[in-house]
Amino acid sequence: MSQHLQKSINPSTESFLYKKALLTLDQYVEGIRSGNKVILGQAITLVESTLPAHQMLANGIIEACLPFSTAQESLRIGITGTPGVGKSTFIESLGLFLIEKKKKIAVLAIDPSSQNTRGSILGDKTRMGEITSREEVFIRPSPAGTSLGGVARKTRETIILCEAAGYDTIIVETVGVGQSEIAVHSMVDLFLLLLLPGAGDELQGIKRGIVEMADILTVNKADGDRLALAKQAQKEYKNALHLMPPKSNGWSPEVLICSGLEKEGISEIWNSIESYLELANSQNSFDEKRKKQSLYWMKETIWSALKYSFYEDPKTKELMIDLEQEVLDGKRSPFSAAEQLLKSYLNKK
Ligand code: GDP
Repeated sequence: MSQHLQKSINPSTESFLYKKALLTLDQYVEGIRSGNKVILGQAITLVESTLPAHQMLANGIIEACLPFSTAQESLRIGITGTPGVGKSTFIESLGLFLIEKKKKIAVLAIDPSSQNTRGSILGDKTRMGEITSREEVFIRPSPAGTSLGGVARKTRETIILCEAAGYDTIIVETVGVGQSEIAVHSMVDLFLLLLLPGAGDELQGIKRGIVEMADILTVNKADGDRLALAKQAQKEYKNALHLMPPKSNGWSPEVLICSGLEKEGISEIWNSIESYLELANSQNSFDEKRKKQSLYWMKETIWSALKYSFYEDPKTKELMIDLEQEVLDGKRSPFSAAEQLLKSYLNKK
């Protein structure tokens, strides 16, 4: 994979790796397979790096881990909702619940808005205070990145490493504000949308498309004064969902209520997840979905590599300046300018 593919995901990562001697591919894979969190973390750092040598090594690790990352052994859950809806608090409660069920949980985040070395979501781990220190849990904040595609791809690769390390429940958290849901949707088996009580979806800034993507909706903060409001919102969402076409696998999305803070309603959500699992297993649809997702990521990766190669090509860049001006001056149509640019780029290849 070209080093030009992605802009730097995490510059501090690279200086860290420079200072530290790299392990061999086999050592990384063995470390991951034995559940060594430090080595898993270092391997993810390699995945996030943009240095060609790191990328080559990371690709080797991913390939070696792929056979251990199968639909039978893991469940990938996407969790989304607007900032402040209570995602971190909910993940903490769900995490504790799952630890009781002897699950091993990896929590990853996608937050393309974050330009810092660490993402803003999951950056503040205080609301996940209890699970962060648990042996059964691995938490990795969102890598900072310039493009959603870049960050999402890294997360997808990270899922493979976490599964090979024995995490059977992968939670991918994202902020419910737009494009990132689509990316998360294309890497999880099941999508959970957290909603606030007493607010219609317009108010919550949630696009209809995101509601349509959700397999389970849950109105959070159903506690104290807000319990009645939460029940009302539940009713409204149920009615709204009736108007939507059923999912292709025949699943009708459920609308539940919970309180992440009070740890209420978590087992009901888990029951719903299990019902979904049962249906999916009876149809073998997880496998099918994952196969489709793999093809999606293959095409996405090609698409972004081509785009990068085109826009970063020095000759194209130079020609682009002149042609943009001609289009702005009305001397040339946008289509003819595009054609000229593509011709010049393709002839060079
Ligand atoms: P996130 O931005 O979606 O991750 O939301 P947080 O988990 O950080 O929570 C945002 C705020 O809502 C914090 O002040 C939490 O204490 C509060 N909160 C989260 N879950 C609940 C809940 O179930 N009930 C109530 N009453 N407050 C909650």
